[in-house]
Amino acid sequence: MLKRQLLVAFMTLCMLTIGVQSVFAAEKSNDLPNIKILATGGTIAGSANSNTQMTGYKAGAIGIQTLIDAVPQIKDYANVSGEQVCKLDSKDMSNDVWLKLGKRINELLADNSVDGIVITHGTDTLEETAYFLNLVVKSDKPVVIVGSMRPATAISADGPLNLLNAVRVASSKDSVGKGVLVAMNDEINGARDVTKTNTNNVATFKSPELGFLGYINDGKVCFYRESTRKHTANSEFNVKHLNELPYVKVVYGHADDDRVFIDAAVAAGAKGIIYAGTGNGSIHKNAEAALADATQKGVVVVRSSRVGNGTVIDAEQSYIDAHFLNGDSLNPQKARILLMLALTKTDDLKEIQRMFNEY
Ligand code: ASP
Repeated sequence: MLKRQLLVAFMTLCMLTIGVQSVFAAEKSNDLPNIKILATGGTIAGSANSNTQMTGYKAGAIGIQTLIDAVPQIKDYANVSGEQVCKLDSKDMSNDVWLKLGKRINELLADNSVDGIVITHGTDTLEETAYFLNLVVKSDKPVVIVGSMRPATAISADGPLNLLNAVRVASSKDSVGKGVLVAMNDEINGARDVTKTNTNNVATFKSPELGFLGYINDGKVCFYRESTRKHTANSEFNVKHLNELPYVKVVYGHADDDRVFIDAAVAAGAKGIIYAGTGNGSIHKNAEAALADATQKGVVVVRSSRVGNGTVIDAEQSYIDAHFLNGDSLNPQKARILLMLALTKTDDLKEIQRMFNEY
């Protein structure tokens, strides 16, 4: 009797094992890439009270599995699985989340079974997260950030197609080695140059002057250009052992400027200040005196510009004498990210300027 029960149990186990194996085989029998979707919140996961409400909704309310389930066409391009990293309105993004995200992405991409990453994100600080990851991801595998301008509950929501396109970009062999990419509104932009240019329109992400890298045309991923600046696998920055980033503030220049915010930043312990100057990183004379005092105290000052186009290059002799660095074509919010990471490596001004010239 016992023997028979044992035999039945053994056979059941064998059948179950074969069953599990064949399900596994069915899942893996396709040649599709394995893409991990990391969710951070944003309007793409936003929920409003009505389908015509485009503002005042709750960003990040909807979980990643619901977003994935809403776009079953994704399965034609990749085997995807989701992971909820946080549920933020991206206006509240923090260095802590960036460090967590950077470490998690590096962990995932080191795994041979992961072919690429998609990150869902709010659009307000999407360009900053993209550039941070562009500098700290240690892999050539595709990393694509996506958001939406209309909440998931809206009529003509842009999130579902943006998400499908992001998976298409992350699944494309042509995306390998291109650095972190932003896929929105049928266009692919590079992390370094992309910026949000319109407060409400779906066609908000642009790379001013330098242009976007490619299209997603009727589902086809087509690249035309790529960034020449160092990124990802070629970057010298590493978040592996970092638990915080140096304190760096942006101060916005304007007519009738004074030294109040600069002195306050120094008093608060800033290790670096990005001055979003007028024109070619020009600094109001009142602010210039405060910035020169700051450099005397060891604070690294980088001249950036509030203009939004062009590069910041050497100008006044007094800027050179005061050891202010040039922010190249990075906008102030991205210059802050590069300076934070630079300060994790060195406080040598020549070295930091080299980094601004290379990344
Ligand atoms: N405030 C939202 C966010 O950045 C806006 C958006 O996602 O479009 O999370």
